[in-house]
Amino acid sequence: MPYSEPAHMPHLSLHDSQRRATVPFTPLDPEHVKVYYCGPTVYDLAHIGNLRAMLTADVLVRLLRHLFPRVTFVRNITDVDDKITARARANGEDIATLTERTTQEFHADLAAMNVLPPDIEPRATHNIAEMQDLIARLIENGHAYAADGHVLFSVASFPSYGALSGRDPEELVAGARVEVATYKKDPGDFVLWKPSDTDQPGWDSPWGRGRPGWHIECSAMSHRYLGESFDIHGGGSDLLFPHHENERAQSLCCFPQGKFANYWVHNAMLLVEGEKMSKSLGNFLTIRDVLAQAPAEALRLLLLGAHYRSTLNYTLAGLQEARKTLDRFYRALAAGPVPDTDVPEGVMKALADDLNTPMAIAELHALAGQALAGDRAAAGALKAGAGMLGLLQEDPEKWFKGEASEEDAAIEALIADRLAAKKARDFAKADALRDQLQAQGIVLEDNKDGTSWRRA
Ligand SMILES: [Zn+2]
Repeated sequence: MPYSEPAHMPHLSLHDSQRRATVPFTPLDPEHVKVYYCGPTVYDLAHIGNLRAMLTADVLVRLLRHLFPRVTFVRNITDVDDKITARARANGEDIATLTERTTQEFHADLAAMNVLPPDIEPRATHNIAEMQDLIARLIENGHAYAADGHVLFSVASFPSYGALSGRDPEELVAGARVEVATYKKDPGDFVLWKPSDTDQPGWDSPWGRGRPGWHIECSAMSHRYLGESFDIHGGGSDLLFPHHENERAQSLCCFPQGKFANYWVHNAMLLVEGEKMSKSLGNFLTIRDVLAQAPAEALRLLLLGAHYRSTLNYTLAGLQEARKTLDRFYRALAAGPVPDTDVPEGVMKALADDLNTPMAIAELHALAGQALAGDRAAAGALKAGAGMLGLLQEDPEKWFKGEASEEDAAIEALIADRLAAKKARDFAKADALRDQLQAQGIVLEDNKDGTSWRRA
């Protein structure tokens, strides 16, 4: 059946962590949807686990922009944190140099991944006054107390503490992982403000020179840019507790008339070759590590190939597979004219169903098949549908040229290795490299200027 235009827009449903169900999404103001995501703590290169959260947000925001007239997407930068202080000290550089460089690297990596920038990207250090306002308000409302240069949130003062993550506060207090300190009334109480030594970053405050706790940063920045109530708060599932639970407690105790976030969206974690990514296992992959091996678009397709709420297993084989899929999609686009088309209904339906990206990609496969069979309307639909996922927006010629030039670079590297082996009189290695190139269909021609090559 030839491809035909979509008939109507499906209704969006999202899995809300707090309601623990997939529910229809109804914005507080249908004219203006507001989204907040926790951004990076800028002390090191972003890894592919960080990327998964940023990509989930990107697909969500692209979809919201398609469905609603206006979307404001805020994603912060955490540029004050003890990890930053420690890293700057270890590197022998000042904090501002480290956070500025890391922020630029983060932006460059996300741009390479075709992740659209947020509308507002507040930095924690530019919002210290807002954090102090919120802390003062919490003390006034009886939800926080100052002790020993610290200000702590009193968990017992907020009966719905634990409602977001589904944890029982009693169990939290009994848990051994909670830091016990003499200045805490209750071991579950968490830090809003802490004192700084002279060699730590600090700001003057009514409670002495100090710095904010991490959780209050997001409460302050979301309030400043989105107000007491906004639509969606998102992040990785590792942030659900304690970070998001604490943000929620702070914000609702500051602004009891508000809702804070009306929906909570959390993406699942990522494995690398079946194992949890960790520096000690040696399978820790930054975005840059992967981009040295494959085009960014292949990584993007690979990550979107799993539903955001299921654990994703990153593998090198999967990355190569994604690249082959993109070869096929781009071949379908290159096979003839690509008319401008609306986003196809199958893709919209899949994405509107709690961001079902694997189903949307299955639709793209079907459209690519139709396009390769000569249906150019399907080629238009393929490009428009892929655009919702931030895919297939390159010129096909550029895609294939990029592939070819990467292959050429790999061949030239092997030829250089062979030349070096010959110079070192390691003829066995030189011959082995020649055989390897021959097996790839490469013919070498040694001459007085070096070695030239051609495809057989
Ligand atoms: Zn946050």
